[in-house]
Amino acid sequence: MTDALVIGAGPAGLMAAEALAAAGRRVLVVDAKPSPARKFLMAGKSGLNITHTGSNFAAAYPEVWLAPVLADFGPDAVQDWCRGLGQEVFTGSSGRVFPVVMKGSPLLRAWLARLDAAGVELRTRWRWTGFSGEGFAFDTPDGPVVLHPAVTVLALGGASWARLGSDGAWVPMLVERGVKVAPFQPANMGFQVDWSPHMARFFGAPVKGVALCVDGTRERGEFVVSSKGLEGGGIYAMSRALRRGAALRLDLLPDLTVEAVAERLARARRGDTVGARLRKLGLSSVVVALVQEWGRPLPDDLAPLLKALPVPLTGPRPMDEAISVAGGVTHAALTEGLELRALPRVFACGEMLDWEAPTGGYLLTACLATGLWAGRAAAG
Ligand SMILES: Cc1cc2nc3c(=O)[nH]c(=O)nc-3n(C[C@H](O)[C@H](O)[C@H](O)COP(=O)(O)OP(=O)(O)OC[C@H]3O[C@@H](n4cnc5c(N)ncnc54)[C@H](O)[C@@H]3O)c2cc1C
Repeated sequence: MTDALVIGAGPAGLMAAEALAAAGRRVLVVDAKPSPARKFLMAGKSGLNITHTGSNFAAAYPEVWLAPVLADFGPDAVQDWCRGLGQEVFTGSSGRVFPVVMKGSPLLRAWLARLDAAGVELRTRWRWTGFSGEGFAFDTPDGPVVLHPAVTVLALGGASWARLGSDGAWVPMLVERGVKVAPFQPANMGFQVDWSPHMARFFGAPVKGVALCVDGTRERGEFVVSSKGLEGGGIYAMSRALRRGAALRLDLLPDLTVEAVAERLARARRGDTVGARLRKLGLSSVVVALVQEWGRPLPDDLAPLLKALPVPLTGPRPMDEAISVAGGVTHAALTEGLELRALPRVFACGEMLDWEAPTGGYLLTACLATGLWAGRAAAG
């Protein structure tokens, strides 16, 4: 009989496996894909933001039930854990923490080697397809297999970037066993904009030095104009409120008051085009184009428009493009040890649980922390 089974070899599942092995359990980790942690490696492509330092860390997670889990394995512990795997880290100006090498692959290689040395067995191309009586049924390269582990940790991920493994196909399998799962929604995602044809030459252009204003919140942020709409960190940071229908406005000159903007505009020469007047304020070509795209008909007094340019978003981009998801196994469906109330001896962790956090290292930190928490509880 399998002693401890972990289904899903992303960061949450591997951390659960590490905790189980440390407690002396014989651990088998299985994953549907041909290799483990594909989303983790993808995250490393643009710089693996592993955690976040700073006093407002806990505030990034609205779900209060996560607090003890994150207190147990928070930013300091994540950094120590990276160093323990031979990966030095550094903290960027915004409090974001990265491995010095930026990529996830050296960290993952070292982690898999350590797990292997601890006796953890990893099998890939094992897809969990549902329950067979009390057993877990799999499609494997050698045909169907049913396992009856003493304890199981599910770490199946959310429901975005399905090609990396997290396809959300597990939802009906748990729901039919009485586990409550909140519907998935995109999180940290881009938004659609119906552009007029003249914007095409700005696709791919970054917008910097602006503030995004949503629901009384005002944050400096950067984003990119794409053929589909807007994407990037500044937009992701506001995505929770925008998903609920809040309006977005841009302050294009966040260091100036509206009066100061008006005063600078008044210095323009007679005969200057609107574009020339805007460029003289230091606005980039793409920002000037956005004013002309969204500000029409342009008012005589441009200052209030430049301080609060309305952004006509037409909805979120599809969930599969989202960095993460909201929704998943609800808190009410879990015990304090992240055991499924409806399925004793089965635990769950990582992005498949119903919590939401911004980008900036908060996602991986919560996946690692819940993996450790569930693994320890399962071992106990
Ligand atoms: C482009 C991109 C960049 C990102 N950058 C960052 C970043 O810099 N910092 C950060 O904090 N977060 C980042 N994230 C988010 C982060 O990668 C995820 O939150 C994290 O990987 C989720 O971990 P997890 O272990 O819960 O799930 P996953 O990493 O999704 O792993 C789940 C695993 O379960 C397996 N699985 C699913 N269903 C089955 C099944 N039926 N049978 C067997 N196996 C199954 C999958 O194959 C997969 O390997 C990024 C995400 C994306 C898409």
